[in-house]
Amino acid sequence: MKNYKVVEVEVYSEEYFEDLLNDCNESISVAGILFLPSQVLKKCDPIAWQVFCSDMQEYKDVYECLECGAQYECADEAEWCCAPEDEDSED
Ligand SMILES: [Zn+2]
Repeated sequence: MKNYKVVEVEVYSEEYFEDLLNDCNESISVAGILFLPSQVLKKCDPIAWQVFCSDMQEYKDVYECLECGAQYECADEAEWCCAPEDEDSED
């Protein structure tokens, strides 16, 4: 009996993409005020920002316990997460 489900989760956070942009591009100075490349793209062209993120995003499957919602990389761990201990179980 399965007591977990497989869910697809995003590997990278939005912060990761911000860092990526900020590392690969120069900050923009306007009237002596410095703007981060990630700020500029998000504010000036939110659609381009979304496209950038979704192009770079990767997804992975994780196993989610149906009882408590905890997520695991490994199906076995999810299987036993909230499983009651049953010492008399047969193979
Ligand atoms: Zn659980």
